[in-house]
Amino acid sequence: MAQSKVSKTAKTAAAPENLNAFEIAQQQFETAAEYLNLDEGMRQILKFPKRALIVSIPIKMDDGNLKVFEGYRVQHNISRGPAKGGIRFHQDVCLDEVRALASWMTWKCAVADLPFGGGKGGIRVNPKELSSGELERLTRRFTYELVGFIGPDRDIPAPDVNTNSQTMAWMMDTYSMTVGHSALGVVTGKPIELGGSRGRNEATAQGCVFTIREAASRMKLKLAGASVAIQGFGNAGAIAARLLQEDGLRIVAVSDSRGGIYAKSGLDIGKVLAHKERSGSVVGFPGADAVTQGELLELPVTILIPAALENQITSKNAGRIKARIIAEAANGPTTPAADDILHANGVFVIPDILANSGGVTVSYYEWVQNLYTFFWDEAEVNKQLERKMKKAFGDVFDIAKKYGVHNRTAAFILAIGRVAAATKTRGIFP
Ligand code: NAD
Repeated sequence: MAQSKVSKTAKTAAAPENLNAFEIAQQQFETAAEYLNLDEGMRQILKFPKRALIVSIPIKMDDGNLKVFEGYRVQHNISRGPAKGGIRFHQDVCLDEVRALASWMTWKCAVADLPFGGGKGGIRVNPKELSSGELERLTRRFTYELVGFIGPDRDIPAPDVNTNSQTMAWMMDTYSMTVGHSALGVVTGKPIELGGSRGRNEATAQGCVFTIREAASRMKLKLAGASVAIQGFGNAGAIAARLLQEDGLRIVAVSDSRGGIYAKSGLDIGKVLAHKERSGSVVGFPGADAVTQGELLELPVTILIPAALENQITSKNAGRIKARIIAEAANGPTTPAADDILHANGVFVIPDILANSGGVTVSYYEWVQNLYTFFWDEAEVNKQLERKMKKAFGDVFDIAKKYGVHNRTAAFILAIGRVAAATKTRGIFP
């Protein structure tokens, strides 16, 4: 294992692992760009965001005081179409995180072969400390600041951590009121009654499940009864837990921001959801043991699904991970150093830009349905999603074999190749 090669003597203490998300994204880019023999000019174009906007958002709080929050929207690349990517509300959001997430969106859309570039946005706020009215005012003022930057042909936001279909409804309404007509296609992940797509709420998890099935079939691994641990119990994690349980897998551990729970014989996900609904957390679920976030990642399970935040699997814990498959529902959960350790240990990693691309894929279907004002039923959405996920998985798997690289580098090779080709064919203006 690479870890054991690091000297532990006091004099030669190892440099701390780089956990800056944007620098990690650039490192992943450079690793793959080597295989494509990209020239330096093209690397410079593709490595950095095209545009970044920082906005100051003043909000009148319920107690009458004024508070100012900082918000961001980054468009990383728009060579293949409008920018596309979620909006995150979290106290740790910063420009570098948003730049990283925007660049991963570029590569994700290209892996899935969608006619989109990559964007991302966020507000540095702990939304749990705000009332519903404060959150609405924050969302609306943020959206107003973005009018001109976003739009159905320019940049199309969607939900991410701590945002949901209600947030998207407020964004759609604010944008529409400002431009003077209803613009359904300005955001995706909307409620069904406002032009949302059937299947969008489940899409990230459903897509992730499709990739797990593909991986298991290539590994000749039986999924019925296989054990699963999931970090993060929100849109991606909780729905993945439900879908996998419906498929006959055993969800033995789940966690959220307050902690984790473990039951070797399996958790009843319906009951865990009801417990979280009542109490606000999975913690304290009757009949389960408590586990820490760190312990959850290292449990003896067949499948591990990180579905929370970045930098969860690092050089410190990668060597102790026992899962056969890691399906990255979250963006950026694994550092490059951890990737090498997992690869050396034979862990099959389904990288984020493939594993969670179901979300943006059904967002694309939502946008298409909005442009046509013709809506599909859920069976049609899921059929199209499965087709896309299988194709993307097969493309990445074949490149990994061809170049002898791990799946993340393979996915980056596929994506960068497509975006570089589009950029080159368009030419450099003027
Ligand atoms: P969400 O807000 O619905 O859920 C996030 C969950 O993570 C919550 O249960 C929260 O309690 C938990 N969490 C937060 N900090 C944690 C920690 N330190 N340890 C364990 N759990 C923690 O968000 P989501 O939409 O499910 O997004 C989760 C991840 O999936 C993010 O990385 C996001 O970028 C990615 N993702 C989401 C979508 C989507 O469509 N929602 C699409 C692609 C990727």
